[in-house]
Amino acid sequence: MIPPLSRRLLRLPPYLFAQLDSDKRVARAQGHDLIDLGVGDPDSPTPAFILSAMARAIRDPRNHRYALDQGMPAFREAIAAWYERRFRVRLDPQREILPLIGSKEGLAHLPLAFLDPGDRVLVPDPCYPPYRTATLLAGGVPVAIPLRESNAFLADPADIRKASRQRTKILYLNYPNNPTGAVASLPFFQDVVRIAQRRGFLIAHDAAYTELALDGPRPPSFLAAPGAKEVGVEFHSLSKTFNMTGWRIGWACGNAQAIAALGKVKSNMDSGIFQAIQVAGVAALEAPARAMASQLQEYRRRRDALVNGLARLAWPVKPPQATFYLWVRVPQGRHSAAVAGRILREAHVVVTPGNGFGPAGEGYVRMALTVPISRLRQAAQRIGRLVWS
Ligand SMILES: *Cc1c(COP(=O)(O)O)cnc(C)c1O
Repeated sequence: MIPPLSRRLLRLPPYLFAQLDSDKRVARAQGHDLIDLGVGDPDSPTPAFILSAMARAIRDPRNHRYALDQGMPAFREAIAAWYERRFRVRLDPQREILPLIGSKEGLAHLPLAFLDPGDRVLVPDPCYPPYRTATLLAGGVPVAIPLRESNAFLADPADIRKASRQRTKILYLNYPNNPTGAVASLPFFQDVVRIAQRRGFLIAHDAAYTELALDGPRPPSFLAAPGAKEVGVEFHSLSKTFNMTGWRIGWACGNAQAIAALGKVKSNMDSGIFQAIQVAGVAALEAPARAMASQLQEYRRRRDALVNGLARLAWPVKPPQATFYLWVRVPQGRHSAAVAGRILREAHVVVTPGNGFGPAGEGYVRMALTVPISRLRQAAQRIGRLVWS
């Protein structure tokens, strides 16, 4: 007999995609040819120049031992140089950068550094699920900030002001945004920084998709907003930029005290990133921007193919300027889960029901552009055969 589970674990919502996963297994077992637009995981391999750096590093015995908790100096310096080049943001590699075992790890550990039981965390709705669940695991209270289509899926400063009146410790933001594909500009970040300065909460900006800009201006770093470093940290990752999701490497950067606090939590839980992976990370960050240009071109072509395919079915989608997701409104009066379920069972296409990202995601499904263009065309055709009357 094992003891009953903790209250904090029991507070986590049930796994929302359980039904979808079981439908997926059934369809596969029946031998159907599934097109999976469900997972936000690049299908292309990690570039060869990164593999070569890793292959060399793995033969060096100095990389086989425990890594330093705060990461290799060379990796932190490569991050600082990349931020300066890419965003014109200056970072102190010693005090303002903390390597992470993937950015999810740091995003999820952050509440442990700031929350006492009952403290509030503002989370966008819809959002990447760990912001909410990590808040709950730390004993905090997630408070939803709606992202409305009418406001281009930007958090409304009025909502943030209203929600942050008492005991608010953290505000999570994520632009370019998963799941909506929305992009924020510097003036938006400036507004939010001003609110944080007045109300005294920490901004945690998740910047995982800044390099997946398909068109329009290149997305800014939140830290480029004046005063941002006084009130916030930014989380970044090699996962999406360099097709390295399985490698587990990212970082937090920005406010030195927040970085130190997160580092203190982590030093009691993990022992850093395998050093050979950090060496490969340096190679990735030192590559010229054009190294990933053909990858971006591919996502652009896929986006246009799926947007056009869906438009022919009278499922109009605004093409996202960044990320590899389409955030698609389901036919009027239908529920996300019912639509995703039917698309899976009858068209054998996997899409993610929007309510899995929060209640405000109801009425949408997310489609990831992580399969070849021919499969996206096929997916649109198959979905087109369904009648919704
Ligand atoms: C994929 C993704 C990440 C990256 O996670 P890693 O742990 O760095 O692989 C972070 N935030 C969002 C919103 C994502 O979609």
